Amino acid sequence: MEYIELRHNNVLVIRKNIKHMYLKIKRATGEVQVIAPTSITDQEVEKFVREKEPWIITHTLCEDNVKVVRQYNIHNGKEIALFGKPVKVIYKYIDKNPQYYSFNDNILSLYIKKDAGQDKIQSLVTDWYREQLCNAIDKYSQKWMDIMDLEINEIKTKKMKTRWGTCNPGRKNIWINYELAKLPEKYLEYVIVHEFVHLFERGHGLKFKAKMSEFFPGWEYVEKDIEKYAIV
Ligand SMILES: [Zn+2]
Repeated sequence: MEYIELRHNNVLVIRKNIKHMYLKIKRATGEVQVIAPTSITDQEVEKFVREKEPWIITHTLCEDNVKVVRQYNIHNGKEIALFGKPVKVIYKYIDKNPQYYSFNDNILSLYIKKDAGQDKIQSLVTDWYREQLCNAIDKYSQKWMDIMDLEINEIKTKKMKTRWGTCNPGRKNIWINYELAKLPEKYLEYVIVHEFVHLFERGHGLKFKAKMSEFFPGWEYVEKDIEKYAIV
């Protein structure tokens, strides 16, 4: 099987005896396919797919099912979202402190006392979200520091009401909204790239947009899409 690697998707190339090339997204799996005539070259297929990358990004983002970021009350057996995918919370009762969590196979086990209140439960879940988010931030910031050839002083997570990320270009410090741990990872990556580009360009003018397009084709669609999520 032959794939064309894009930044966010691998596109499966299928050759058929047809006249016109087209793209297809499998509903069940989200797999992207390009159906290409047998007569055209690999280079032409790749060029076609790369030109359609913004379209592919928007249409694969639509699969995501978390629409609102909200702090819910947690209960035993509840499903919560980690990077847009469900994680089940299971309570395991213990007699004494410390209370803690463990995370395996998409199950978040909370080792808590029988009388543990919602505050304690929320604080364990928050610690876990932060840990997951920090791991993902490490991964993407390393990737994008290499690609953009820049150094960041510090990246922190923070609960913010109105913004997904902020940065201080002078000090090279970046803050990432904690709630991004709940949305599909593409949004986190987009916010990191957006803030990194601010180290070159402070505003959101033409130069900023050109840099975004250079590094993150289809970013306009991701930006539009992230607006569907409310921070509450
Ligand atoms: Zn900005």
